[in-house]
Amino acid sequence: MSSDRLHRLGLGLIAEKALAGERLSTTDGERLFACPEPLAVGALAHAVRRGRHGSAVYFVVNRHLNYSNVCVNRCRFCAFRRDEGEEGAFTHDLEALLAKLTAMPEARLSEIHVVGGCHPSLPLSFFEELLRRVREVRPKAVLKCFTAAEIAHLARLEGISAAEVLSRLKAAGLDMLAGGGAEIFAPEVRGRICPEKVTGEDWLAIHAAAHGLGLRSNCTMLYGHVESVADRLEHLEALRGQQDRTGGFTCFIPLPYQAKANRLGLAHGPSGLDTLKTIAVSRLMLDNIVHLKAYWVMLGVKLAQVALHFGADDLDGTVVEEHIGRMAGAASDTTFSRAELTSMIIGCGLTPVERDGAFRPLSGEAP
Ligand code: SF4
Repeated sequence: MSSDRLHRLGLGLIAEKALAGERLSTTDGERLFACPEPLAVGALAHAVRRGRHGSAVYFVVNRHLNYSNVCVNRCRFCAFRRDEGEEGAFTHDLEALLAKLTAMPEARLSEIHVVGGCHPSLPLSFFEELLRRVREVRPKAVLKCFTAAEIAHLARLEGISAAEVLSRLKAAGLDMLAGGGAEIFAPEVRGRICPEKVTGEDWLAIHAAAHGLGLRSNCTMLYGHVESVADRLEHLEALRGQQDRTGGFTCFIPLPYQAKANRLGLAHGPSGLDTLKTIAVSRLMLDNIVHLKAYWVMLGVKLAQVALHFGADDLDGTVVEEHIGRMAGAASDTTFSRAELTSMIIGCGLTPVERDGAFRPLSGEAP
């Protein structure tokens, strides 16, 4: 992308700022979203991504564990949740969850991602025991578990603070919080899509508390439903501001809304072009969050590969078993082997770098 072309599109000054590592304003973000040429925005984001990561694309040999889909909340976009006893509801006990892990042939499993619904009666002690037992069977894996919504729910259930929940889970083996539950922070949108869920302010406060305890975390944005571009930019700014204050976010994960089997009633999620532009603008706005994930489960494999040229530097991992996106109609396969992921990245003209859950490269250095 020539600088002449960027100037003709009115993006010259924004490009100069982004390439110099200067912070973009909300107005810059609005102009990027409004640009009629998504390829130009993508090329700029790719240049910034290459400046940070070269040709490296990170991936992880990981395993998801969804302990239950029974949830006291009723987020309108969620196809995963069930009431207790409803058809399709599941709750796994400790032995069943551990059996899923020990059944895995992968010797180098390096991230375990545990999330589920806000279960009405599973106590904090269940999750402490789960983490301790997982730690015993997979001592080297990074345990990336629970969204801020689950932490807030456990705090309510136990009558203790979210910080105390986090401390107890950390003592049991927790390394990182998962990034889910952020959705869109704007209260009006949140009231329409997830009125029972933790507020945006409390979501940020729980991540701040986790960072204060030395835990890392990821962060997300659910887009392509009833929110506006201004809501997306406000959300990105809130994440950027939180990162300035506490610095514990490792990776940002944009999540496209999945339209199937939920109560929001929208006919479809965001277009492919909207997804690519959102990824690119996010890369440009979030100057202080190192990694941006193209989560193939939600994007679909082919769009995730294209996203690696629109600002994303991570493809997530082997996953093995996933219910949340699949029950909402995500069009991806359930799992990939390490070799398949590697070959997908090489096929994009980029360099695979295996990482652990905390994004530490495992085999060789990132180029
Ligand atoms: S998104 Fe999470 S908190 Fe909301 S209903 Fe679904 S499982 Fe429950």
